[in-house]
Amino acid sequence: MLNPKFTLRTQVALLFGGLVGLVAGGLSLWLAEGLAEQALRDQGTTLQTLATSTAVVFSEGLHERQREIELLADDPPPGAGLTPQHWQPALDRLQRSRTHYSWIGLADHQGQVLAASGGLLVGQNVASRPWFQAALSQPFTGDVHAAKMLTTLLAPSATGEPLRFLDFAAPIRDPAGGTIAVLGVHASWDWATEVINSLRSDALYQQGVRVFVLDRAGKVIHRPRDATADEAPPRPLPRGLAQVWRWSDGKRYLSASTPVPAREITGDLGWTVVTRQPLARAAQGAEQARRQALLAGALAALLGLLLAGWLAGRFSRPLQRMAEAARRVEAGQQGVQIPEEHHSLEVEQLSSALRGMQQALLGREAELEQRVQLRTAELEQAHAELSQANAVLSAMALNDALTGLPNRRAADARLEMEFQRHRRNGQALALGLIDIDRFKSVNDRYGHAGGDEVLQRVARVLAAAVRRTDFLARFGGEEFLVLMPETPQEGARQLAERLRQAVEDSEGPPVKVTLSLGLCYGAQMHASVAAALQAADEALYAAKQGGRNRVEQAPPGQQP
Ligand code: GH3
Ligand code: MG
Ligand code: MG
Repeated sequence: MLNPKFTLRTQVALLFGGLVGLVAGGLSLWLAEGLAEQALRDQGTTLQTLATSTAVVFSEGLHERQREIELLADDPPPGAGLTPQHWQPALDRLQRSRTHYSWIGLADHQGQVLAASGGLLVGQNVASRPWFQAALSQPFTGDVHAAKMLTTLLAPSATGEPLRFLDFAAPIRDPAGGTIAVLGVHASWDWATEVINSLRSDALYQQGVRVFVLDRAGKVIHRPRDATADEAPPRPLPRGLAQVWRWSDGKRYLSASTPVPAREITGDLGWTVVTRQPLARAAQGAEQARRQALLAGALAALLGLLLAGWLAGRFSRPLQRMAEAARRVEAGQQGVQIPEEHHSLEVEQLSSALRGMQQALLGREAELEQRVQLRTAELEQAHAELSQANAVLSAMALNDALTGLPNRRAADARLEMEFQRHRRNGQALALGLIDIDRFKSVNDRYGHAGGDEVLQRVARVLAAAVRRTDFLARFGGEEFLVLMPETPQEGARQLAERLRQAVEDSEGPPVKVTLSLGLCYGAQMHASVAAALQAADEALYAAKQGGRNRVEQAPPGQQP
């Protein structure tokens, strides 16, 4: 499996690129081998053709020369007989007309040379020469051999090598058919070199193509000048089309051979033309073809890779765009649009599905937001209601429900606060405890509701009578407390009296009541709130004892 960290683009590019590379590589290898083989075969054909055409030209050349001497023997110069004076000019003319005719001579049936081109060997005897002996009975073509009698008489060969000759000879007969003389020709072996050079182009020579000629026995009778003297093809000669042979120098050559065809039995010398080219040179074309095929393959693979990369990009780009947009949506970016992609059916479906999903999510989000807003509003309202209720509760906690005056809890707190301040700055502070006289009997007579009504009225009267700086509270059942900050003894007494008077003066409903008040003030307060309250209570008790509807103050001795 491919590494999951690779992008889709990389995976597709690798897969397609690899595939294209493999196919291109395989094809180009196969093609390279085929082309190389073909090139080598073509080169072999060239060698074979050269060998064949050389052989044909040799064959034609041999035949032509043999025919020429035969024609001359059959049809001697008119009226010449064997007279040397008649033959001499004809032989000279023939020798001049043929480049490679080194010597032409006429010998009588005993081998005595009667006439010859350039007058060479005239008077000498050639009876022991094979060409003479053979031609006594029939036309003769003789294989190449080193010059013997003419070596010193003729100019050396053009190639500088020892003179070598091919012999052509034919009998001259009398009308009865008896041989009266022999016509003989020594043709220079340079002719072979010329034939070969005329057929083998310079280009082939540059490419190392060389031609050898072998005689019937397989002996090399012509070798190129740059070959060593003992260089020879393997024996026996392989048959068939051109192939690679290992030659006597140990090297491998692409080689071809063709026997020189004979036009007639007497002219068959059994030669073979062999052409060769060093294998490395012969394979050069093949190597080049192989290189070109491989290069073409590499180029095709590269092109394939590029194409694969481009295609992969084309495939993956829309997906990347969608993924990028989806990531931004995930990161909470506002206003991100999943792009509409139409690259392929699947991508289009994915794109539209993602867009649909995004729309659905946005719808859900809006719905959620709406619900959150609704909930927040509800909570805010609940909170407002709660704080309202709390306000009511705290009001209830500190106020008496029946009279609306501060209750005992509020009174305790205020007492503590005023007491602290009094102790800190030493300013006057007076405290009064107020009790309705014989209230039980009010309840008894007017019921509890009547009692409540009295309590409410007394509270109203007291609240109206105290100063703004004073603090009035319902302290217990039908008891009230009044705190008078910064009020000296006399002032407190007057206020207490005023309160008592106000209640006494106020009429029902349902009935008139009176109050008793106990006062405590000034330095008497220094000890504690409890002590001050007790002192005031004792003063109240004294007021009750003293007949009620009156104000008493704590006796100085009892004050702390
Ligand atoms: P005294 O002159 O000695 O104070 O006589 P009193 O009858 O007032 O005696 P006491 O203080 O013993 O009685 C108080 C009565 O007040 C007892 C109780 O039933 C009544 N009372 C206390 N709180 C309330 C209340 O909120 N409403 C009503 N209607 N009656 C209450
Ligand atoms: Mg009481
Ligand atoms: Mg009472």
